[in-house]
Amino acid sequence: MNLSFPHVVFAIGITIYLVVRGAYQWQNAKAKKSVSRATFMDWLLVVQIATAQILLPSVLIYTHWLDWANYYLPQAFAGVGGLVMAGGLWLFWRSHADLGKNWSVTLELDENHRLVTHGVYKYLRHPMYASFFLLAIGQALLLNNWVAGWAALVATTVLYWIRLPHEESMMVEFFGDDYVNYRKQTSSLIPWK
Ligand code: SAH
Repeated sequence: MNLSFPHVVFAIGITIYLVVRGAYQWQNAKAKKSVSRATFMDWLLVVQIATAQILLPSVLIYTHWLDWANYYLPQAFAGVGGLVMAGGLWLFWRSHADLGKNWSVTLELDENHRLVTHGVYKYLRHPMYASFFLLAIGQALLLNNWVAGWAALVATTVLYWIRLPHEESMMVEFFGDDYVNYRKQTSSLIPWK
């Protein structure tokens, strides 16, 4: 075990993340899908995100296998990391709460899918991916390890660049001008419009 204080903060944060995700996964389990773009590539993106956010940090915290990639990180970084992670968790929860039954882990649309433009979706088209970036920055500041600390930042960037065009083209195909107009009025990740 590598249970330093920053590691404990990260472990608590990721547990809250899993509880939120689990609750919405359970709530949406029976939803009937009418459109699916859940390709092999899209599932691969989900697996690499889970590996970077959960598996590699767990290996760092619960084993000594990644100790060779440790480096020194001043305690102050952990304080900032904890705050950034808390902000990321808040945004993650709000994105789930606002999307409600319209959320899915891969690219899919429900039989009764609604375009959500309220709550955090009023300001951002991709608040959940924005929350992944915040969580990843928190992870890098809390985990003093080249592999487990930085993995989520790399994985989130890969998810964002590969999935986004497919996700937005699926939304345009299904919601037409409603999504095109929504896209004109909102920013993707950082609220500047
Ligand atoms: N990209 C969004 C949602 C990620 S979850 C975010 O970062 O917050 C992915 C699923 O959310 C997609 O399969 C799509 O079905 C759904 N989705 C994305 N944006 C949506 C919106 N504005 N309204 C309703 N569903 C949306």
